[in-house]
Amino acid sequence: MIAVSKTFKIDKILPLIDHGHIHYGENKVQEAAEKWTEIKKINSKIQLHMIGRLQTNKVKLAVQLFDYIHSVDSKKLAKKIADEQLKLNKKIKIFLQVNIGDENQKSGVSKSEIHLLASYCKEIGLEVIGLMCIPPLDIDPKGHFEEMQKLNKSLGFTELSMGMSSDFLLAVKYLSTYVRIGSNIFGKRS
Ligand SMILES: *Cc1c(COP(=O)(O)O)cnc(C)c1O
Repeated sequence: MIAVSKTFKIDKILPLIDHGHIHYGENKVQEAAEKWTEIKKINSKIQLHMIGRLQTNKVKLAVQLFDYIHSVDSKKLAKKIADEQLKLNKKIKIFLQVNIGDENQKSGVSKSEIHLLASYCKEIGLEVIGLMCIPPLDIDPKGHFEEMQKLNKSLGFTELSMGMSSDFLLAVKYLSTYVRIGSNIFGKRS
């Protein structure tokens, strides 16, 4: 379970860290760097997940800070991550984000292009462990979760990043292995 701590200050997060929770999610590189750089030095077990849209000019800092990136959705971004992690001698775990609802505004690669992107990532040495999605807000995610499970299997991945506060139990039924929970843990975001 990834505790999504975006927008919350570190004093809200510390009790969870003290309790021994390891996985945390953030959606902005700059905010994450300010909150987590020092804490990660002290607590080397902590695993930080980038779950938001990632601009190529932020990749360098993202690769330094994060252990997982869930939002890879283009060759350009994939290549930049591969280059930066080579320089740092670091291996980030990667999820490829799928625009499962074919929404105009949403990040994510289309279903028709996911196989191409996956093989490209393999070629350039990225460690892709699974697919990730944020299904459309206004409808029952069941059909999309089912589709994600099938896509993930067809690509031979073992991990799957889906499910948020409102739908994580359903996501787990469709074999999600990383659920991303924010408001159910930390309360409503202002
Ligand atoms: C904010 C966010 C979450 C957590 O959402 P909640 O509904 O608060 O659990 C999960 N995934 C992504 C990509 C997010 O941006």
